Amino acid sequence: MRVLVINSGSSSIKYQLLDPVSGSVAASGQVSRIGESVSDGTATVEHHGDGHTLEHDGPIADHAAGLRVVFDLFERSGHPLAEAGLAAVGHRVVHGGEVFYRPTLVTDDVVRSIEELSALAPLHNPANVTGIRSARELLPDVPQVAVFDTAFFHGLPDAAKTYAIDAKVAAEHGIRRYGFHGTSHEYVSGQVAELLGRDPAGLNQIVLHLGNGASASAIRGGQAIDTSMGLTPLEGLVMGTRSGDIDPGIIPHLARTAGLDIDGIDELLNRNSGIKGLSGVNDFRALFELIESGDAAARLAYDVYVHRLRRYIGAYLVGLGRVDAITFTAGVGENNAQVRADALAGLSRFGITVDPVRNTAEDRVARHISAPEAPVAVLVVPTNEELAIARASARLVA
Ligand code: ADP
Repeated sequence: MRVLVINSGSSSIKYQLLDPVSGSVAASGQVSRIGESVSDGTATVEHHGDGHTLEHDGPIADHAAGLRVVFDLFERSGHPLAEAGLAAVGHRVVHGGEVFYRPTLVTDDVVRSIEELSALAPLHNPANVTGIRSARELLPDVPQVAVFDTAFFHGLPDAAKTYAIDAKVAAEHGIRRYGFHGTSHEYVSGQVAELLGRDPAGLNQIVLHLGNGASASAIRGGQAIDTSMGLTPLEGLVMGTRSGDIDPGIIPHLARTAGLDIDGIDELLNRNSGIKGLSGVNDFRALFELIESGDAAARLAYDVYVHRLRRYIGAYLVGLGRVDAITFTAGVGENNAQVRADALAGLSRFGITVDPVRNTAEDRVARHISAPEAPVAVLVVPTNEELAIARASARLVA
């Protein structure tokens, strides 16, 4: 049995064909620069399978055109999708609003509802909808499943999900904290329970998903009780290009004094802030090169990042009362030992330690980085949102 997982972004589509049981990936690839006029001969679609890479280098007009090229590349590789034994196509959908809080079989009504939620996620949901529409056209006989980034946080306690603004205005406009990266937080916290050989129901966990986007969550007995992202994926931790938490007063101040309109402010906070806004680069490898060369702005960006991260860890320690496991995941969390060490430095009185040898081991698998016998397990667990989406999709159609 196989599931095709599709993650459509505003100008890209990432996909994987995988076995939801074993997790083995039969093929994967990426469509990039959708909608751009591409004339430099660089690949706009890369398809990997059987140890080979196939490329397409023409411009890709839209998501439908991109998926058509992907389907052609499956044919050209000798493994047409029609013969792949597809049980389902699983789509990552960013915002489920109040409407969707579990994996959902896609129907016309579901597509319309996801589209209506675009007001809450203008950068993401429209792209997700185009991806779903195209896949339904190209594979009309295969069930399509939508898996929502917000779903895991649907049950956040009222105190954690409510913004202290005029309740009538909030209710009218769907303004509450939804949380994102839920598929990753759920998958990773499940892996932690397995790794510890414990029933998830008895575990209190903090999960730190640190990629380009970054979020933290506090999980009690398998249920999220708090998370750092809010109405949108802009709130919370400092990210590659996003500010995370700021004083909301900065927004009217900028509108009045910097002559920025609301789209300009949105762009500033989402694309030109965070690590990039402070240092000029958004990739952590580039940031560390700058720090090593003595760049003071890069150093400050890192210090602000770690400061914010520790603030959330502290809040979640208090929120949970007792913590059994703290887990790092995603690009930075899985690969950057310095961030892990700095995030948890000086917390041994709380039973939290990072063993320097374990922390710097060049290991790609889920593992402990706390000292043996430490009361709080500190772990690195690679996230795998594609596998989680494939499993959720396969379960739903079974
Ligand atoms: P997203 O999926 O949100 O785009 P990722 O989870 O891929 O992001 O994380 C991207 C970040 O992870 C980048 O800042 C990158 O520098 C960092 N990263 C990825 N691989 C490594 C690595 N091998 N060493 C250090 N940092 C890495």
